[in-house]
Amino acid sequence: MSVNIYKPTTEDRERIKHQFDKLKISGDGVFATLQGEGQTTGKPAVFLRLHFCNLHCSWCDTRYTWDKNSREFWQEPEDWSYGETAVRINNAWESVFPTNQEKRLVITGGEPLLQQRKIVNLLQRLPGWEIEIETNGTIMPIPELYTCQFNCSPKLENSGNPLQIRYKPEVLRVINNLSKSQFKFVVTKPLDLDEIDLIVSNCNLNPTKILIMPEGQTKKEVEIRYQMIKDAVEARGWGITLRNQLIWFGSKRRT
Ligand code: SF4
Repeated sequence: MSVNIYKPTTEDRERIKHQFDKLKISGDGVFATLQGEGQTTGKPAVFLRLHFCNLHCSWCDTRYTWDKNSREFWQEPEDWSYGETAVRINNAWESVFPTNQEKRLVITGGEPLLQQRKIVNLLQRLPGWEIEIETNGTIMPIPELYTCQFNCSPKLENSGNPLQIRYKPEVLRVINNLSKSQFKFVVTKPLDLDEIDLIVSNCNLNPTKILIMPEGQTKKEVEIRYQMIKDAVEARGWGITLRNQLIWFGSKRRT
């Protein structure tokens, strides 16, 4: 099997360099949709997708934010100032949702906390917004972000990342203690639940904050896995969720 490996140009290498006063935005930029996962499922939201990730999950559906073999990783990112990013977020909201509704921003990636000090600067320009931050739970959040809702998705062995890179118990304990936080584990097989049991017990995670999501690239695959694990998840007192974005919109980007 031949593998396509993109060879970056000098311009590409310049494009992905960090600029100290700008956010590095992935090719998806901002888009208005419905939150598809977790406690706020179904709520209208603007998503902001940031570039770069420190993990390399085998089933990642946003590889273009980190995979150096892909052309998109090198060619799509843009640098937006904090003011420009805030304007785009407000415009995305106003073009789709009624202005009297609670405004919700979901900051996703990649791994957004790689740019967390810049996120603080952005949020100063978005007063009144409800903020959710999606994170893989390997980077300690800074206190300035503690009032945000943290949607933490710690990775298991099934992600293909080595344990010492994917598992940071000290980070999970801090996120567990934040008033607005939840943990979403992506499961490919029933045995994964035993691995989650160990994490929950080692980090003393609140069971009411735990959500299990069956992995799958198609609606059918997700539903089969859902049925396989549903009873065992409910017996542990955890929540279970489908990948609603996939079910509502299919595997398209910017949904
Ligand atoms: S942590 Fe998230 S963005 Fe990063 S590789 Fe894994 S699934 Fe993809």
